[in-house]
Amino acid sequence: MKYLYNFTFLIILLLLNSSCGTTEEPADLVLRNGKILTLNEEMSQSEAVAVTGKRIEFVGSNEDVGDYIAENTEVVDLKGMLAVPGLIDCHGHYMSLGESLTGIDLKYAKTWDEIVAMVSDEVKKKKPGEWITGRGWHQDKWESPPVPDIEGLPVHTALSSVSPNNPVMLIHTSGHGVFVNRKAMDLIGINKETPDPEGGEYVRGWRGNPTGMLRETAQDPAREAYADYFNSRPAEEVEAELRRHVAVAAENAYKNGITTFHDMGETFEIIDLLKEMADEGNLPVRLYIAIQEPAERLAGKLSEYRMVGYGNGFLTVRMIGEKVLDGALGTHGGWLLEPYTDMPRTSGFNVTPVEDIRRSAELAINHGFQMAIQGIGDRATRELLNIYEKEFTENPDKTDLRWRIEHCQVIHPDDLPRFKQLGVIFSVRGIFATSDAPWVVERLGLERTRERGYLYQTMFESEAVVINGTDPPVESIDPIDNFYRSVTRKMTDGNVFFPDQRLTREQALRSYTVNAAFAGFEENDKGTIEPGKLADFTVFTKDIMTIPKEEILTAKVALTIIDGKVVYRSK
Ligand SMILES: [Zn+2]
Repeated sequence: MKYLYNFTFLIILLLLNSSCGTTEEPADLVLRNGKILTLNEEMSQSEAVAVTGKRIEFVGSNEDVGDYIAENTEVVDLKGMLAVPGLIDCHGHYMSLGESLTGIDLKYAKTWDEIVAMVSDEVKKKKPGEWITGRGWHQDKWESPPVPDIEGLPVHTALSSVSPNNPVMLIHTSGHGVFVNRKAMDLIGINKETPDPEGGEYVRGWRGNPTGMLRETAQDPAREAYADYFNSRPAEEVEAELRRHVAVAAENAYKNGITTFHDMGETFEIIDLLKEMADEGNLPVRLYIAIQEPAERLAGKLSEYRMVGYGNGFLTVRMIGEKVLDGALGTHGGWLLEPYTDMPRTSGFNVTPVEDIRRSAELAINHGFQMAIQGIGDRATRELLNIYEKEFTENPDKTDLRWRIEHCQVIHPDDLPRFKQLGVIFSVRGIFATSDAPWVVERLGLERTRERGYLYQTMFESEAVVINGTDPPVESIDPIDNFYRSVTRKMTDGNVFFPDQRLTREQALRSYTVNAAFAGFEENDKGTIEPGKLADFTVFTKDIMTIPKEEILTAKVALTIIDGKVVYRSK
């Protein structure tokens, strides 16, 4: 009996062995000698991964992965580096990112004069009448205030004198305002007599003349004039330029380890182009897109435009966004329950009428779309929760909707638990806390900031889902910087902004992976490193999960892998 038992055991063993050795598909890609954070339920760590085609075949030890290596397998030695599930930036503006990388980058300008000089250089490269655009400036980043100084902002004179024949539009880092020169103001017909539009403001000098700063909805005519100019060029030229924006944005995403990008708002026309590129196999990054169109344009077209995993998993369109319910705090546009502390005449702006959002929400729930609307101030968040709640109550048969509120910078304590109760996702930007920190206490007052501002840890503790992202091109897409700011809340001057609200490293990583995949209904394909999931990985040169926090910023992305292909390798 004993003999027979052993014999049977041996046969089973042989069978098992032969099935391992001969029927295993060789892998196309193997990563080994790594520290692979799977983020699976057990939070286990592995050394190696084998990928066949576009999916993960095996996760385990260096030894066992050997079975998957054949002659044509690409084997990457990670040399102990940290690999995590491909990072998902949950909030950005893909085409604007591409465009911004082709305009003047004003992010690092230290004074207004420096910006004027940059525009002056650009004028030399342009023909009269061609627009000049730039992006990323913020008056609070300047070392000294502009002269003259109107509410901390410059007056257009110097800009107009270096660029008398080229309209100039310089987009504020928040995206909620632009600064233009005289030529642009003449084109769009803004002068002393022009009344402020609803939901916006032309900042004026003491004689009532517009200074060139156009806040919130007041910037729309300038943006439209620029868009008209852009689109007035021959169609092939416009398309070539847009395709260039797609490629340039992808290059930026690759370099930063971003494998999926939640794009918060494109028009039907842009989605058509992206779909065409997906058909050609030319979409370089996985896009998860929100349609950004007025409610009357949405109706009738939504079913046609709903796409999930189109183009081999590179194009999904199933959100309605980024309608902005309110403006930004930096421009006193965020819609607050009580007035701004440093500008008591205003509580901010309601940019898109509440009724329009309600109409979009109704369309969304009927067509299987997710709402992803921006709520910055506490009033905006409350209004959005009310709209969402109403739709959920009226449609009890529709469940698991995963609607989101974007930014959530200021939330009243009464509204915070409503996210968990309603199943609404907190979509935050870790880096906004530290970018806004130098001026936001002035806007909101210390107590209100402490009670309601950037409550990221409280959000996690509320057990609602929290996702992260950088809002490129508003901020750089860099996930390492965003991770660092999320876990340290350290500002560039070294001060820490409300340390109680720091995230743990695991929370911060989850906000880019597991939680982010959930927010895109993609938890079966992304977010963890497990057999069967898509082969998207981000590899860092240093272990950002364990090195001293102060060293996190010295880490870089070493490898970006999408669909089983290495798309970026640092030099
Ligand atoms: Zn945004």
